Amino acid sequence: MLVSRYLDVAEDSIRPNVSGIRLLQDPSLNKGTAFTLEERRRLGLEGLLPPHVSSMAEQVQRVLANVRSQSSDLHRYTEMISLLDRNETLFYRVVMDNLEEMMPIIYTPVVGKACQLYGHIFRRPRGLFITRLDRGRVRDVLRRWPHRNVRVIVATDGERILGLGDLGANGMGIPVGKLSLYTACAGIHPACTLPIALDVGTNSAALLDDPLYLGMRERRLTGPDYDDLVSEFVAAVREIFPHAMIQWEDFANHNAFRLLEKYRDRVCSFNDDIQGTAAVALAGLLSSARLTGTALKDQRVLFCGAGEAAVGIANLVVDALKAEGLSEADARRHCWFVDSKGLVESSRRDLQEPKKPYAHPHAPACDLLSAVKELRPTSLIGASAQRGQFTQEVVVEMARLNKRPAIFALSNPTDNAECTAEQAYAWSDGRAVFASGSPFGSVTYKGATFVPGQGNNAYIFPGVGLGVVVSEAARVIPEMFLAAAHTLAGLTTKKDLDLGRLYPSLSEINEVSAAIGVAVAETAYARGLTPEPRPEDVGRFVRDLQYKPVYKKYV
Ligand code: NAD
Repeated sequence: MLVSRYLDVAEDSIRPNVSGIRLLQDPSLNKGTAFTLEERRRLGLEGLLPPHVSSMAEQVQRVLANVRSQSSDLHRYTEMISLLDRNETLFYRVVMDNLEEMMPIIYTPVVGKACQLYGHIFRRPRGLFITRLDRGRVRDVLRRWPHRNVRVIVATDGERILGLGDLGANGMGIPVGKLSLYTACAGIHPACTLPIALDVGTNSAALLDDPLYLGMRERRLTGPDYDDLVSEFVAAVREIFPHAMIQWEDFANHNAFRLLEKYRDRVCSFNDDIQGTAAVALAGLLSSARLTGTALKDQRVLFCGAGEAAVGIANLVVDALKAEGLSEADARRHCWFVDSKGLVESSRRDLQEPKKPYAHPHAPACDLLSAVKELRPTSLIGASAQRGQFTQEVVVEMARLNKRPAIFALSNPTDNAECTAEQAYAWSDGRAVFASGSPFGSVTYKGATFVPGQGNNAYIFPGVGLGVVVSEAARVIPEMFLAAAHTLAGLTTKKDLDLGRLYPSLSEINEVSAAIGVAVAETAYARGLTPEPRPEDVGRFVRDLQYKPVYKKYV
């Protein structure tokens, strides 16, 4: 079997380098009550465990009963993180076998609450924290990480956590959560992942005043101080973990686009809020076009919000239209924006750089409703982090203009959604093609049951990471997100569409991630971004390297 340098041949048995109580305290090796009597004898564990040897199925049953009996989602989150701290293999077994139930707990929306209360619910550190005090020594901090074969780093500076704003060092919950999805959804080995908080301070007065806040108690670094720390971090990653891909995560708008542009051609890196969101939303648009029997070039998309998510989506829609033969200028005219100051149009003098290509000539229209009336969009995409922007009048107007209006309320967490699934279906008389950022349950309206699609980035980034990691691609290029979007849309079945769902069921995310991994790896091979030639069977190559949460035999 051809093996990538990513992992050596997966062994069924290993010889652990620790024994006794230290073995039980190492989450990457610990099997808890599942150690066999023979292993207990050989590894100095006799007496340290209750006598019954549990099967993994029994352990899973115990964990699920405990998690489900907790009184709140936040308690369920801490229960799961404690399991990750004790027994990594069991954590991933539970998550991977119960993904639809576990994903909202270990990631959005519950992780948002967990980040807000990070210093209050803190039990054990996870990941690396880098601050201005580490200047000149960031490489030494990275060297402290216990694993050498790091392949995926998720790094945040905590300034724009979900739709919750500046959470400073509390943002660490996000890289931890995202990396657990890299493993759970795509099978990237947990030992190859590294969560990083670039703690550059916080401007949140509430956090600075909170006696339990665990980050640097100072205002955010700005200007050269900020840039120099990030630049030292990137250089240190290249030196210590030369095969690692960096995912920039939850940076505020003013740094997100800048850092992406600065580093995308220098190091293997991408920004999930911009590019991952774009791919999942484009897949939704492709599926909704299929549902309405139209083509992407028949769509006019109006965005509510013109930040990282919205502009990122528009940029990828433009790439997709160009791939269908449109000129760049024609493609851009399919995308319009309303931001906090009204319609983005060519007479505006206050626009940040990323919005400028979308400032088309038009009379100023101040609010979303008048923009809908004047521009007659086929699709309305909300990424404003402002609850309730899709009012009844807006949705009614979209339904008046379109037989099947696409309404995507992507803002997170659930409370920030531009409208709820129920509102979208009720106000459009059951005709809306709805997708959201945070999960909404099924809705029954006038006897018909609709299953809202969740435009969850988790459909995209784990598969992109898998493809990059196994092919050892030197760069993450926009074409990979286009390939990911088309692959995801292609996996949405007629049955999904009949239910009103624009994406495959989350229960199929492992297969989705593998397929995206293959498409991304194929792109990397085709574009000459890999050190090794293309293996004969890329599908098998990718799937063979996926991590499986099973206990190894200890000899
Ligand atoms: P951002 O801060 O970069 O952008 C927010 C934008 O909203 C800005 O352009 C701002 O001008 C605009 N805005 C503010 N108030 C407005 C108003 N009243 N009307 C119209 N526009 C208004 O943030 P972002 O990274 O783009 O994220 C925005 C939201 O999208 C967040 O809630 C985030 O959680 C969500 N998001 C969802 C997904 C997903 O569903 N897969 C992915 C990424 C981000």
